[in-house]
Amino acid sequence: MLYLTHDIDWLSPFHPYAWIKCLTHGSKWLKPHQLMHQNIFLNSIESICKHNVQEKINAVWLIGAASGHALSRYGLRYTTNSVNYPILIQLLKKWNCTIGLHSINNESINTQVIQLKSFTGQNVLYHRLHFLKQYNELENDLAQANIKVDFSFGKARQVHLADKNSNTEVKFVPTLLFDNAFFFNKPEEVFSTFSTELRKAIATNKDVAICFHPENFLILPALREYYQEVIRISRNEGAVFHNPASTL
Ligand SMILES: [Zn+2]
Repeated sequence: MLYLTHDIDWLSPFHPYAWIKCLTHGSKWLKPHQLMHQNIFLNSIESICKHNVQEKINAVWLIGAASGHALSRYGLRYTTNSVNYPILIQLLKKWNCTIGLHSINNESINTQVIQLKSFTGQNVLYHRLHFLKQYNELENDLAQANIKVDFSFGKARQVHLADKNSNTEVKFVPTLLFDNAFFFNKPEEVFSTFSTELRKAIATNKDVAICFHPENFLILPALREYYQEVIRISRNEGAVFHNPASTL
């Protein structure tokens, strides 16, 4: 089974780090004129939702649920108090998206799960660590918070089939491809390695995930085409996209 996932790292273009990144990240970040549009991230999220419906794929959206720390180094760039937060929840619900937790390490995973549940009214079954910052007690923390599937294992900048066993009820589904790979490698290389590794995963009955960030579609316009191609390759290799209505 293949899980299509999206991490939400940004909700407001007016966050100070969004402007600092214009100076530090060059072509790997948004242009100042793009940051003038208040709803730029929400619009990108909605555009992906529409696209996924056309593709008949129900993606898992991993969103933050911390009440603070939007300015700390590894924090998310929004909190549950942000103006756009309830708008985001409404938007994802309108498009029938599956919602999971994108956690940060400044608050316990359990606390973030409880907070997210209070906003969505739904159980929180899916999880990915922001920045993939693994730590020793992760599995116990996930089990305690009743998370069923975790996507935190993988490499942010390259296609990689991580191996992670579980000693609990938590199922570790490695993320085979992050869209950031397209910023650091030639697209043909990404496609080719992805297809080889996906074939291996399918042959060994291993579930994997792919992750695309809404902001990356704004930074790299060609990403839309790459996204289509990754979906096409996946179907071509015989991958079955996860459908939350059927099973975990
Ligand atoms: Zn993140």
